[in-house]
Amino acid sequence: MQKIIAANWKMHKIRPQAGETAAELALALKGGTPLERLAVVFAPFTDLAVVADAVAGVKNLEVGAQNFYPEEQGAFTGEISPAMVRDAGGEWLLTGHSERRHIFDESDALVARKTAYGLEKGFKVMLCVGETLEEREAGHLRDVLDRQLRTAIEPLDATLRARLPQSFAIAYEPVWAIGTGKVAGPAEVLDAHLVTRNILTDILGVAAQDLPILYGGSVKPDNAGALINLDNVDGLLVGGASLEAKSFLQILGA
Ligand code: PEP
Repeated sequence: MQKIIAANWKMHKIRPQAGETAAELALALKGGTPLERLAVVFAPFTDLAVVADAVAGVKNLEVGAQNFYPEEQGAFTGEISPAMVRDAGGEWLLTGHSERRHIFDESDALVARKTAYGLEKGFKVMLCVGETLEEREAGHLRDVLDRQLRTAIEPLDATLRARLPQSFAIAYEPVWAIGTGKVAGPAEVLDAHLVTRNILTDILGVAAQDLPILYGGSVKPDNAGALINLDNVDGLLVGGASLEAKSFLQILGA
């Protein structure tokens, strides 16, 4: 399966900075991505068009939005629709990121609505799941992943399920490892990814084998190589270390 290395720029970069980083990526990757990996940049809304323009035509380099509201249009002050993301050049949508769940109180139900809506609108959707430190220490890893995956995937109808192989990825991101410098150890990553694969198989059957499961949480150039080669790790979602083209490119080639 094609490995996906995704950048989450979070709330960083005004347009000139975004354009410069995207241009550096485009220049470095115009001859192809390392090992034909797929690079995805989740940019802030205001940067989407600038980034999409800068990387247009570069194979295996795609752009997405970090958030959206699951409606066509209407009185939803402060929100943006998938159609607006598409108009700005985005083809991916991120759902369930832990910062959305924990800072903005997004519920499993809203994450599920957004996931289904994004797929319905023809986007590629990356669904993030992961446990807090308290949940892990209480022995609830499996239950948390089971709940987060099931609420988002079980309601998908047959048409949307048929789109999953081309349009869906999971990112396992332990909340305690995001932006903290604490990377999950290889045994923890192996275990959580196997648990995730097993839950996906329980929900989707053999189709689960083709769904990429990315790891995210303090990925850096010096730990990316070890993580990407673990069983059931089909990619990486990178926050802090994706802000500079140089370190993101090192991770992409790790
Ligand atoms: C993220 O934003 O999804 C993330 C994993 O951040 P960081 O790499 O900074 O921990």
